[in-house]
Amino acid sequence: MTLAATELEFRTVIGLEVHAQVLTQSKMFCSCSAEYASAPPNTHVCQVCMGLPGALPVINRSAIESVIRTGLALGCTIPPYCKLDRKNYFYPDLPKGYQVSQYDLPLCVDGQLTFTSEGVEKTAGITRVHIEEDTGRLLHRDEGGASVSLVDLNRSGVPLMEIVGEPDLTSPVEARDYLIALRQILRYIGASTGNMEEGAFRCDANISTRTADGSIVGEKVEIKNMNSFRAVERALIYEEERQRKLLAAGESIPQETRGWVDARGVTVSQRTKESAHDYRYFPEPDLPPLTIEASFVDSVQAALPELPAARKARFIESFGLGASDAELLTLERETADYFEVAVGSTTDRARQISNWLLNDVFGLQRERGLPFDAFPIEAQQLNQIVELVEAGDLTGSGAKSLLAGIEPGENARAVAERLNLLAVGDSDVIRAAALETLTANPAAVADYKGGKKAAIGRLMGDTIRATGGRGRPDTVRAILEELLSE
Ligand SMILES: [Zn+2]
Repeated sequence: MTLAATELEFRTVIGLEVHAQVLTQSKMFCSCSAEYASAPPNTHVCQVCMGLPGALPVINRSAIESVIRTGLALGCTIPPYCKLDRKNYFYPDLPKGYQVSQYDLPLCVDGQLTFTSEGVEKTAGITRVHIEEDTGRLLHRDEGGASVSLVDLNRSGVPLMEIVGEPDLTSPVEARDYLIALRQILRYIGASTGNMEEGAFRCDANISTRTADGSIVGEKVEIKNMNSFRAVERALIYEEERQRKLLAAGESIPQETRGWVDARGVTVSQRTKESAHDYRYFPEPDLPPLTIEASFVDSVQAALPELPAARKARFIESFGLGASDAELLTLERETADYFEVAVGSTTDRARQISNWLLNDVFGLQRERGLPFDAFPIEAQQLNQIVELVEAGDLTGSGAKSLLAGIEPGENARAVAERLNLLAVGDSDVIRAAALETLTANPAAVADYKGGKKAAIGRLMGDTIRATGGRGRPDTVRAILEELLSE
């Protein structure tokens, strides 16, 4: 029986598995540097991470701590006991023939991630977070006309954590927003750079389709090779549609692994899905099981920084910021830290500081091509500039000039004086500029006298311009009102 797709109501079920490189100095089981990308190929390697027979691994304590920190940030339970297991498979960039991972006793279990998707707060379960090691990389090159594949083992043994989510997501957009929130948390707690382009944050998605009444259920399909949030969303939209069409046509959906081909915008079948038993997991004989002391977990918990959602809520509550501004300020921990240093004890100045930061400081940052965590002026200087504006000692245009001209360590008022930017409150200077403006704008004067009081805005703008942008707005207004009432 064939039904048109429109006659059936479908449900989409999505679960995500994220592999994130753990930010550490050294690799998971040896003392080689974990900085693999910048070094020449095969220079950050030793017997352990090259997989030479007989070489013995040693566990990186810092990596374990970062994974526990991740688990705690995701509300997981940290079982008192866990172990490492060998996952056997063959890849040309996996010389050992197995990967050290965790099978039945992971480091972290039963957590959740709360995130916002299209304005609605959602919570998805986190099944587990476990530690494992990355593989090497194959480099495909053209050497003297022949295409060759070379192996670089610098990345082999870099600590990796796998964050397995419950199949609680119901749309491609939710999947994207879940990933954005997860990456933000990993960056906040310093557990991973979360850099997707460099492969430090990789996602596999499981998606299945069923009818709303449960009468038709497709098998789970795993999608790989998505290296941006946009790619994850596009691949899932494509796959959702493909599965719905198949089911509507009365066809079945086999369990398989498909790869996303970004350039063509399609998923293609790669292989039928293997089961856990195909990997022949067994306990890693060269490493002891781990006992995780409750006091250690407590100390990691106590050192957790405030997470993005809580920080956003506090910014709204404590500083009276709008939700979208608070969101922008807390996207990255470095930005939120900068903002809080800038505000300091002057909470009543927070909204103005937020405006200047989001518009002008960020604008200057982009203009100068600075990274997101490098600010063109010091946080204290931003506070000083806003203070000068609030006191009427600096006009908006004067503040912009000061922002662009101030050097590290300088005092804002001193620089404003030196650059001749301080607002002019001298009533003789302003009166002369105002008279000039009134003479040049008879129409606006007539409008004002005819009752259109808003016309004073244009007159103020022209008068301030006539003072070289430095006339104090309050004095300009007072003098214009006085002259217009004569
Ligand atoms: Zn090594």
